[in-house]
Amino acid sequence: MGKNDFLTPKAIANRIKAKGLQKLRWYCQMCQKQCRDENGFKCHCMSESHQRQMQIFGENSDRIVSGYSEEFEQNFLDLMKRSHRFSRVAATVVYNEFINDRHHVHMNSTQWATLTEFVKHLGRTGKCKVDQTEKGWFITYIDRDSETLFKEKMKNKRLKLDMVEEEKQEREIQKQIQMAEQLKAPLESDQENEQKAVPKELNLESGVKIGFSLGGGIIRKEEKGESSSKAARIVNGAYRGSNARLLGVDTEKFCAKVQIEKGVYDGRLIKAIEYEDICKVA
Ligand SMILES: [Zn+2]
Repeated sequence: MGKNDFLTPKAIANRIKAKGLQKLRWYCQMCQKQCRDENGFKCHCMSESHQRQMQIFGENSDRIVSGYSEEFEQNFLDLMKRSHRFSRVAATVVYNEFINDRHHVHMNSTQWATLTEFVKHLGRTGKCKVDQTEKGWFITYIDRDSETLFKEKMKNKRLKLDMVEEEKQEREIQKQIQMAEQLKAPLESDQENEQKAVPKELNLESGVKIGFSLGGGIIRKEEKGESSSKAARIVNGAYRGSNARLLGVDTEKFCAKVQIEKGVYDGRLIKAIEYEDICKVA
């Protein structure tokens, strides 16, 4: 009997006949047939259609049982969600509501032999919170949808907070950078000017060349001039024969201050040497 046959006259008639909850054990899950009593069930089991169904079951028992188990669990959880979403409730109460629907998947066709076994399964797989009391097992539906929504909300909130925090830090850093820049401002503007000035010169290639050659020329000229005017030779005493540079003269004492250049005494400073002991070198 297919699921879509429930509107046929026969199906309707059967439902009318089967009004009220009948003994669950006279239900054949394989054929989805409710028998009214033991005799009816025996007759059904002898029927060709049932035998055919049982043959199919024998060949695919695992798949069929797991299929019924899945359906049983899903329907049971749907009922929990519908009727006991936010409350802790006795497992037997829910089960009685569940089997009140005559077309429910019967437990004897699932992998669970007893309600207790099924309840433990719900607890183990995290689909319900379960706890055992003197009055039996109690179950509380775990609302995955709400939980997911809640987690999502919290995650977004956290992300938002993180972003706010980051922005705050960013602003703080910017503030510190600005303060540091203000402190450095005079120094930096000098540097900037220098930096600006240098590239300007460098950019004017011809100007740079001129500047360099002129500068070099001037320095060399100066050095030459200096050496020509201040170069001296020591002609008497211990440093006789040494070349020296005239650093200054003491006209009152008729002395000169010289620094020896080259030779073994190179660099030696003589603070006072008499005029007669040196002579200028052209
Ligand atoms: Zn059957």
